[in-house]
Amino acid sequence: MPSLHDRVLAVRTRLDDAATAAGRDPRDVRLLLATKTQDATTVLDAVLAATEVAADRGDDGPVLVGENRVQELVAKAPALTDLVTAGRVEVHMIGALQRNKINQMLPTVTGLATVDRWSLAEAVAQRCVRDGRVLDVMVQVNVSGEPSKGGADPSGAAELATRVAALDGLRLVGFMTIGANTPDEAEVRSGFARLREIRDEVVASGAPGTGDARELSMGMSTDLELAVAEGATIVRVGTAIFGQRPPV
Ligand SMILES: *Cc1c(COP(=O)(O)O)cnc(C)c1O
Repeated sequence: MPSLHDRVLAVRTRLDDAATAAGRDPRDVRLLLATKTQDATTVLDAVLAATEVAADRGDDGPVLVGENRVQELVAKAPALTDLVTAGRVEVHMIGALQRNKINQMLPTVTGLATVDRWSLAEAVAQRCVRDGRVLDVMVQVNVSGEPSKGGADPSGAAELATRVAALDGLRLVGFMTIGANTPDEAEVRSGFARLREIRDEVVASGAPGTGDARELSMGMSTDLELAVAEGATIVRVGTAIFGQRPPV
């Protein structure tokens, strides 16, 4: 089994190659470590590996970590607290969020990528205002329409994002999606293109708070090249770095 460092480097090379093939600057594509089911020690090891790989290419930005469940966020948060405080790590919630978990989640995250409905946005915003903070959020869009996936319907996503952008306590930084679960690459790509079009529409609207909504969080271990070709700025990778997860 190659080391974590070698696997992070291999993924980083895939991202760089995909960016170059698409005529994009590889530095515009960031890697997010999708750490669900990994224990805190493994997460920390992966963060250190990613920090090294980044440093070797002259990138001293924070390492991005994404968790899917509030319970795991809370359990692993202590291992990352110092790095988060130092600005070396950002922790993003990338899984479905229930309203009754917002208070537990907030102290452990720097960003929330799964705002998919107005009631959730309002509830998170209210608590951020109460806490005197501004949370980076993305609107999650279900571009494939698969019922198993979270995300707002694409037809209403731009309007939702515009309303979210105007809320105090939140900063809309972009959009997130999970690619269609199909071997048909054209279908996967068209979903990613749809997310880009929604992003472009919202940014071009000039509506209050939409000016920072540039991120496109899309692509995972198996479809990251397609996502980068369609403009991904954050790619969320688990399996290609940590190996197969045990079935849940
Ligand atoms: C697990 C997960 C990933 C990573 O998927 P892999 O196929 O393991 O790379 C990315 N995004 C989300 C939302 C996930 O839940």
